[in-house]
Amino acid sequence: MQLITRIVEVYSQIDQQVTTFQLRTGLRCPAGCGRCCPEAEVYTSPMEMLPAAHELLLRGDSQSWLERVRKIKDGLCVFYQRHPIDQDGHCGLYALRPSVCRLFGFASVRNRLGQRVLSTCKLLKKNHPSDVAKAIEHQQEAPCFSQFTAQLIGIDPSASRLEPINIALREAIQTLGLQMQLAHGEKLGSNSAA
Ligand code: SF4
Repeated sequence: MQLITRIVEVYSQIDQQVTTFQLRTGLRCPAGCGRCCPEAEVYTSPMEMLPAAHELLLRGDSQSWLERVRKIKDGLCVFYQRHPIDQDGHCGLYALRPSVCRLFGFASVRNRLGQRVLSTCKLLKKNHPSDVAKAIEHQQEAPCFSQFTAQLIGIDPSASRLEPINIALREAIQTLGLQMQLAHGEKLGSNSAA
């Protein structure tokens, strides 16, 4: 499980940099907002979904999550939980979400000159333009997508193989479930994936 520990360490570094950037600029998601998840096509690697898969396998929940993934037809992330009244929603596995979800809205990409350019959320741009303007003033200090991608690829080259998030989760559960069964020689939890 050393690989999972190293991935989670990168997630912790991302969270620290995002928090520092938020404190520096005042840019934040509005309370309770989770509208980016259903609006985006979220891609990540099966490797990045290993911490989530590990948690679900330990809980003995993996089979039911695989079933939920199988039933999804519109590509919406399986972890997205819609609020029953206002149809807004939030992440159901926030602590173990992949790097793209941690960085989205508060990170930069590199332009052709190698400078960091803030890539933020269109809702923040529309509803909080002054915060976004201040964040752009400090965009050279923003966490950088490519830096963390390189870090994850350095841990395991498979981090470069991106899939839709639900497919990535399915693969992570299946691969890790098999490894854990082989390692322990027994079923994991009552509903473990095989
Ligand atoms: S893992 Fe969580 S934050 Fe990322 S797309 Fe899914 S619901 Fe949204």
